[in-house]
Amino acid sequence: MPENENAPSARGLSLLSGGLDSQLAVRILQRAGAYVEGVCFETPFFSSAAARKAASALGIKLHVIDFTDDEIALVQNPPHGFGGAMNPCIDCHATMIRRAGEMMERLGFDFVSTGEVMGQRPMSQNKQSLGVVEKSSGLLGRLLRPMSAKLLDPTIPEQEGKIDREKLLDIRGRARDRQIALAAEFGIVDYPSPAGGCKLTEEGYGRKLKDLMEHEGLGNRRLVELLNHARRFRLPDGTGVILGRDKGDNDMLKGDHALGTLVAPINCPGPTALLPGVKSEEDLRLATGLIAAYSRCDRLEGDVVVRISSADGSRDVPVPRPYDRAPFKPYQIC
Ligand code: SF4
Repeated sequence: MPENENAPSARGLSLLSGGLDSQLAVRILQRAGAYVEGVCFETPFFSSAAARKAASALGIKLHVIDFTDDEIALVQNPPHGFGGAMNPCIDCHATMIRRAGEMMERLGFDFVSTGEVMGQRPMSQNKQSLGVVEKSSGLLGRLLRPMSAKLLDPTIPEQEGKIDREKLLDIRGRARDRQIALAAEFGIVDYPSPAGGCKLTEEGYGRKLKDLMEHEGLGNRRLVELLNHARRFRLPDGTGVILGRDKGDNDMLKGDHALGTLVAPINCPGPTALLPGVKSEEDLRLATGLIAAYSRCDRLEGDVVVRISSADGSRDVPVPRPYDRAPFKPYQIC
């Protein structure tokens, strides 16, 4: 479908996740005569890959916003609370819309739109939640949800006749038949499943995030990014252990040596561990046992020797047998 930038009735910035509803919202607005550009957000908790792909397929310009600082502030203090995990969806969504609204003002667009469907998610997309999001985003009257627009009050661009309300839709609920039919009509074939994509909705990820928040805090962005990699342990005196799962993790953790103390075996294959802050000698001793337990030392006749390296220098320490993972399970976060 060609963009009609030359004679648009209205210019809209559409939140584009890459999911089907967000792609349909763009097409519906274009069909109603609007010129549409996309806006998406990226953080260590979710990527912009699907949005970039969708924008390319739709042939629209995409603005990618680094949303990390906003999201970190929200997971620490979500005014409307969390969903099922550490996902502050109502506030996250409202903040994204507010950021898009700021961009709308700055770049001279008429409205912000989303692919939300009323009633699709009982908690975050009922009429009340949609109203809360609109109010807290500060975009009263300029937030258009083309998928369910006819079930909602007309927005300012609709009232001004810049958008033909008759060409907007009245989809409600969780059924997907109308979206599937519309996808076929618009030739949209590539879209990720509606759920997924945001790590904050995963319970295991939430545990890691909460643990980091309570110990090292969320001030170091790299430590937040590392939540997407490796195993995690929290030792009794509070030392965190980020334990590589594979060569990729190990190499990456070596590159992050400036963040803390590295521990790795030197006489057999095994994981590299990064300890962002050693809280006690006892924790460090436990960490060396943990590394030995995860090393491949079956053919080793003597003890596993680990190297402990930090900004203060390095030392090699033999770890006495037995090497057993079971005692470390209570310390494992994921
Ligand atoms: S699923 Fe994640 S990205 Fe989406 S609104 Fe919720 S917290 Fe934000």
